[in-house]
Amino acid sequence: MNSIGQDSEFHALLRYSAVIGSDPALVQGAGGNVSLKRDGVLWVKASGTWLARAGTDDIMVPVALDPLLAAIDADDATAMEEAGRFVRGAENPSGLRPSIETTMHALLPHPVVVHVHCVETIAWSCRADAESALAPLLAGLGWCFVPYVRPGAPLTRDIRARLRPGTDVLVLGNHGLVVGGSTTADAAALVAEVGHRLRRVPRVAPSPGDLPQLDGYRPAEDAHTHGTATDPRALAVARRGSLYPDHVIFLGRGIAEPPTRDAMMLVVPGRGVLLRQDASSGAIALARCLADVTARLDPDEPLRVLTEAEESELLGWGAEQYRKSLDRR
Ligand SMILES: [Zn+2]
Repeated sequence: MNSIGQDSEFHALLRYSAVIGSDPALVQGAGGNVSLKRDGVLWVKASGTWLARAGTDDIMVPVALDPLLAAIDADDATAMEEAGRFVRGAENPSGLRPSIETTMHALLPHPVVVHVHCVETIAWSCRADAESALAPLLAGLGWCFVPYVRPGAPLTRDIRARLRPGTDVLVLGNHGLVVGGSTTADAAALVAEVGHRLRRVPRVAPSPGDLPQLDGYRPAEDAHTHGTATDPRALAVARRGSLYPDHVIFLGRGIAEPPTRDAMMLVVPGRGVLLRQDASSGAIALARCLADVTARLDPDEPLRVLTEAEESELLGWGAEQYRKSLDRR
C-alpha cells in the first residue's frame, strides 16, 4: 500500500467500517462491504473478511476499475462472478480476493459505496410489494429497488439496467441496502437516513424456556437469538422459508425444528434456539439476524421468500463456498 495508506478518506472509511461491522442491526459476520474509488483503483472489501475488524486486519483489495467496468459493459459473465483477475497484485500482498459484490461497487459512480445488511431494510425488502411499499417511505431520495437475484452476474446486470443519474440508494430485494456518497460522511448519513425512514418497531419476544439437551448442540448465547422460536409471529415468518442469501449460506435452507438433528440451527418452538457446537461465528451472527428480521415482520404481510432454485444456486455457488470456508478458519 503506498499513497492509499496516507489517504484520510480511506482511513475514515475504515473507521466507519469498524463501527457498522460491530452493529448487528447493520452487518452480520462477514456480510456487508465498502469501497473507495481513488485514481482509477477500486479499493473494495475482501471476500470473507469482517468489516468489524477494519481497524486491525487488512480487509481491502485494490481492483483496477476501468478494465472491470469495460468487462461489465461487455457483459463478461466470468468477470461479474469473480473480479479476482482485476486485482492489482503488487498492492495486495495478503493475496485477498475481492468481495463477491465488487461489481456492484464498480457500477455506482460514487467515490464511496457502502453495502449493509441493515435489518430494517431487509425486513421491507422481503415484502412481495417492496417497491410500492417503500415508495412513500423513501420519497425524495434518489433510490431504486432491485428485485432479488443472486449476487454475481445476475445482480450486476440488473443493477446496471436500473441505475439512473442521481441514484444513490439501492434497496436490494430479499437482501439489503447499498448507498453511494462523495465521502464516507455522506454515505454514513444516507445509511442512517434510510435506516431511520425504514425503522420498524421490533416485537419483544418472550424469554426462552427450558431447551432440550441435544447431542452436539448448545443454546444460543445471545439472548435476542431465541426470539425466532419464542415469538409465535416471528416463528410463523421464519417457517415461510429463507428470507435472504446469507441465511442460506451460513444456516442452510429456512429453519429446522426437532426432531431434525443435522441442521446448523434448530428452532424449538416456544422454547428457544439451539446452535450446533461447531457453529462458526458467521452462523452465530446470522442466527441473531433471523430473530432481528423476523421480529420486524408480521406473518400477515405479503412476504416473498427465496425459491428452492434460488437457495440451490446459493448453496452450489463457488464464490460463496470460499467465503464460508474463510469463516470456518
Ligand atoms: Zn450483501
